[in-house]
Amino acid sequence: MMCGLEIHVQLETDSKLFCDCPTNYQDAPANTNICPVCLNQPGAKPHPTNEKALENAIMIALMLNCEIDKDVIYFMRKHYDYPDLPSGYQRTSVPIGIKGELNGIRIREIHAEEDPGQYKPDRGTVNFNRSGIPLVEIVTEPDIKSPTEARNFLKELIRVLQYSGAARGEGTMRADVNISINGGNRVEMKNVNSIKGAYKALNYELIRQKNMLRRGVEVKQETRAYVEATQRTVAMRLKEDADDYRFITDPDLPPMKISDETIERILKTMPEAPHNKVKRFIEEYGIDEESAKVLTSELDLAIAYEEIVKEIEPKFAAKWMRDELKRVLSYNKLDFSDSGISAKDLIEFLGMLQAKEITTKAGQRIIEQMPNNDKSPKEIAEEMGLLGVVKEDEVLAAVKQAIEENPKAVEDYLSGQKASINFLVGQVMRLTRGKADPGETVKLLRENIE
Ligand code: ZN
Ligand code: MN
Repeated sequence: MMCGLEIHVQLETDSKLFCDCPTNYQDAPANTNICPVCLNQPGAKPHPTNEKALENAIMIALMLNCEIDKDVIYFMRKHYDYPDLPSGYQRTSVPIGIKGELNGIRIREIHAEEDPGQYKPDRGTVNFNRSGIPLVEIVTEPDIKSPTEARNFLKELIRVLQYSGAARGEGTMRADVNISINGGNRVEMKNVNSIKGAYKALNYELIRQKNMLRRGVEVKQETRAYVEATQRTVAMRLKEDADDYRFITDPDLPPMKISDETIERILKTMPEAPHNKVKRFIEEYGIDEESAKVLTSELDLAIAYEEIVKEIEPKFAAKWMRDELKRVLSYNKLDFSDSGISAKDLIEFLGMLQAKEITTKAGQRIIEQMPNNDKSPKEIAEEMGLLGVVKEDEVLAAVKQAIEENPKAVEDYLSGQKASINFLVGQVMRLTRGKADPGETVKLLRENIE
């Protein structure tokens, strides 16, 4: 299977690409964020291109390791007839970035273009609030070899876009998915608007094309629509080449030159892309790839980690943040950024662990209390009576009490049911309020029973 993607996501701007209409169309009543320009009324001329939109597209290109085409940028008219586009053409820029790469998938080019309106064929209505909102289009080479690979690539791409702050999220994504198998004709699926949808559409199309080949039927070059409700693809139109779009330069828009200063400024201010950050974390902090991926899964978490490792041993911090912090966050359905946990809190918390002021077990209980808590980790530890590791003689007393009070568990253990020791460990933990070291407890229990 060979698959290439053309992904559209809305760029983050206050106003549209060629007029001053606002871009917060989701909350607005239908056909209110509009003007003659974005309605493509006869005679309405576009305003000069929204520079913020272009700069955002450049930033995305740079984060995806593209070369920036420093020549002149201009807009083309791409013609097609559909009710969402009264002018009969969509304005789309020549490539802004070329030859990029993300997770081993080559990126052919990136350009900016305008969003059409929203047409509902079943009702015959069009809402033009979306018309003219700037989009970034990201075109990959046909390097994707399976539906799973497509899904992983899209997940990572959306993560880069969220990191960049230059584009909106998966909710505004629309992808065209190209697929061919065994070097056969290419089928393009339109209308795929989620990562899950792309995965399902590819799986469906892969099976459909395999079945055709098995029956000796040639796969036609065609455009198909992916229908979310039925999770199938249906034929739209046959064979479509670039020629059919009759591209011409838009004479209403002046060409623009991207200056070296602009690129320098963007390079200085843009966040490091997560896939580049993963590589750096592995090299700089000596942590494994899995930890690096978890720690960079959210920009605020990555920033906090780099703050924390100034004071805490990097591998130790990575392990706790990857396992325990992530566990607590996902249990509470929180992102790190809205957990109320700061880098300072984590430094205090991990510091107590590192200095053995609390046990691992106590740490697990303290971190559970940390989201949206006004108290510091130390205050939480004090309040829960978890500060201080219990001395060995206290643990020994608890071990003896646990053995005495639970003869059945002891008997089971001695008759070969080794797992019953876990029950006794639990009793010791209860008696010491979680302050005993689990490893030490097991050792003491064995010695005393035997
Ligand atoms: Zn407008
Ligand atoms: Mn496009």
